[in-house]
Amino acid sequence: MTETNTALNGDILALETQGLGVKRGQRSVLKDLNLKISPGRWCAIVGPNGAGKSTLLQALVGILPYAGDVFLLGQPLQHQSRQLRARRIAWLAQSSVQSADDLTAYDVVMLGRIPYQSWLGGQSLADHAAAERALKLTHAWAWRDRPLNTLSGGEKQRVLLARLLAVEADIFLMDEPLANLDPPHQVDWLVLVRQLIAQGKTVVSVLHDLTFALYADDLIVMSDGKIQYAGQRDDPALHREIENVFERRIAIQALDTHWVALPTLT
Ligand code: ADP
Ligand code: MG
Repeated sequence: MTETNTALNGDILALETQGLGVKRGQRSVLKDLNLKISPGRWCAIVGPNGAGKSTLLQALVGILPYAGDVFLLGQPLQHQSRQLRARRIAWLAQSSVQSADDLTAYDVVMLGRIPYQSWLGGQSLADHAAAERALKLTHAWAWRDRPLNTLSGGEKQRVLLARLLAVEADIFLMDEPLANLDPPHQVDWLVLVRQLIAQGKTVVSVLHDLTFALYADDLIVMSDGKIQYAGQRDDPALHREIENVFERRIAIQALDTHWVALPTLT
């Protein structure tokens, strides 16, 4: 472990990139990106469409080729076995509009337990217990026998969230987790993230709802494949940078002890 892999308090960083670059086709989508994610905190990534947020998450889970260095829990990503990585970091992909998935909700959640299953061992009692816990946490247990493609967008998203939780990883990456969720389930998600943080987990979420994003401990502002600013929730300079990357079409204002993003209609 090098000095650069530690957070301010000396803990090993959950994730770090040094000079991360990712190309898609001929285009450089991420450029020389230096990122530090502290453990046991919730970090929200915000930025316009096409900023490279999803690409960043995909590079962090090792499913896209990259230049530069990625460290997962203080060690180079490429030096860790696929199984170890899959136990340490779980990823919820940005939801696709269509899914031809005819697996049941329960079987989908069980896919989250693959990192724990041996070649011949099959599913253990611990795997079933984790799947049940996860489906109950997202209030999706009632649909466990329903094929995924018979669920509504929001119901399906809750099953996919359960699949993520069933991994019981150290770090959870979530790409637009609030997509399709109704307001009560969006609030449930917020409560869930706080529970994960209380358990010492690390959460990184890409969010378009800035008012929700401003509940996170830390925020990263991305545009044009770069990190424009990283700061804590209450940092006024962070708020100005968010307004800038969204072309000042929104303004961040205080409401009680929180922040809200309101449209600017001038
Ligand atoms: P964001 O999640 O911030 O909206 P993405 O990471 O999805 O942005 O995309 C960043 C850029 O990479 C965009 O310009 C997008 O068009 C491009 N891109 C994304 N996926 C692919 C792909 N599979 N092939 C080529 N270009 C892609
Ligand atoms: Mg995206």
